[in-house]
Amino acid sequence: MKLLHAVAAGLAPPLCAACGRSCRLDSVLCSRCSRRLAAADPLTGAGPPGLDRSWSTAPHEGVARDLITALKFRRLLPVAGLMAERIQWLAPAELLSGAIVPVPTAPLRSLARGFDPAAEIATALAKLTELPIHPCLTRQGGGRQVGKRRSERIGHPPLIRSRGEVPRSVLLVDDVQTTGATLTACAQALRASGAIRVAAITFTRRL
Ligand SMILES: [Zn+2]
Repeated sequence: MKLLHAVAAGLAPPLCAACGRSCRLDSVLCSRCSRRLAAADPLTGAGPPGLDRSWSTAPHEGVARDLITALKFRRLLPVAGLMAERIQWLAPAELLSGAIVPVPTAPLRSLARGFDPAAEIATALAKLTELPIHPCLTRQGGGRQVGKRRSERIGHPPLIRSRGEVPRSVLLVDDVQTTGATLTACAQALRASGAIRVAAITFTRRL
């Protein structure tokens, strides 16, 4: 299926992944959306409980949010490459260290989609930065967060477990930071298995 998607994407006329207008053949975004994304300010901070630090390339709005939608629901995989480029370009150098661990998607959801957005971004970032990638977390249950009220999402953090050997220094990667409950659950599982440093990078953050 992946190959079919790739072929279809290659034959389709080049359209901006955010606004749908035509764009240059080798581009994911049109020039207007590129400028808007470039103007978005990264967000930093201590992060949710359990994290040493979390950093996001942009607030979850505008072109950045449109890119998340394109990756999640329209499976535009070149978008993951663009996201990884923005992360590498803007993230503080000391943050881009350790082993990259993708935040796990609920199994039913990644199965239904045929791919895992966080894993796609993490893989692209690992290639760019030459950091090792270590998918050592799993997630139980449906854990559907979209459409739930914020209070419900906070009340029921996802069940995250580690498997195999866990790196001592971890850089968690996800598409969106929402309440931070998922990142906290990941950090708890990692630290319980020996991780010393746990930082997180997400493409966007809901404010
Ligand atoms: Zn555009």
